[in-house]
Amino acid sequence: MRFDVISLFPDMFGAVRDVGVTGRAHRQQRWQLQVWNPRDFTHDVHRTVDDRPYGGGPGMVMLAEPLEHAVAAAGQARAEATPSVILMSPTGRRFDQSVAQELADGPGAIVVCGRYEGVDQRFIDRCVTHELSIGDFVLSGGELAAMAIIDSTVRLLPGVLNTADSALQDSFHETLAGLLDSPHYTRPEEYQGERVPEPLLSGHHANIERWRREQSLKLTAQRRPDLILKAREQGRLSAADEKFLQMLDR
Ligand code: SAH
Repeated sequence: MRFDVISLFPDMFGAVRDVGVTGRAHRQQRWQLQVWNPRDFTHDVHRTVDDRPYGGGPGMVMLAEPLEHAVAAAGQARAEATPSVILMSPTGRRFDQSVAQELADGPGAIVVCGRYEGVDQRFIDRCVTHELSIGDFVLSGGELAAMAIIDSTVRLLPGVLNTADSALQDSFHETLAGLLDSPHYTRPEEYQGERVPEPLLSGHHANIERWRREQSLKLTAQRRPDLILKAREQGRLSAADEKFLQMLDR
């Protein structure tokens, strides 16, 4: 897995390359990262990477040429003949766990981070294969969005998480039928008068599993009913799940 990131702020990427689970996986060479600065692909003394928008309006727009040259250089460094070029953009397809899984199953990608008002459309038309948004809000730049997708992808790679199971138990994961995760508890057994739910202390594996499943169903029905409908459509809810959901309704 290799990511080539195009960014005016390469220093930001230490946060995903050096720290925590993704940092450890990087040191273990389970994934590679190279950041390319469009400024290094300019030819004027001011190393200009942006200019005012045609048609007027506030802000600046990133120039097509330095971006295109940066993408070309990154492409040369990669093994694939035609690498995916992902532009981070609020107007892109909404990123979610299934996109993370698609990325984790592939060789990685070139990820382009916009700044200012965005990037010249002709760069998008010529070079970009996918546009991804991490949600309906606007960041000052694509870097945090790129790190979000890199982090969520890398943690799905085989061997990156310590216990093989820990990704399987997360929210949205297939084994959870795409539902939300259940609540977690650790020591002490009683905290400020609140006890850990009894089934978790029982040591009875089937009861624990059932309790967790029901908590997932309950939380998802409350907060994300859309995910319940999706799981049902995909045939991922058991008869016991449906019975529990009916009981919640009453
Ligand atoms: N004018 C643009 C926003 C520009 S924000 C618009 O209204 O659509 C500057 C850059 O931040 C964008 O080019 C993009 O790379 C990044 N960005 C901002 N919000 C994002 C989001 N929700 N998802 C992904 N990238 C985002």
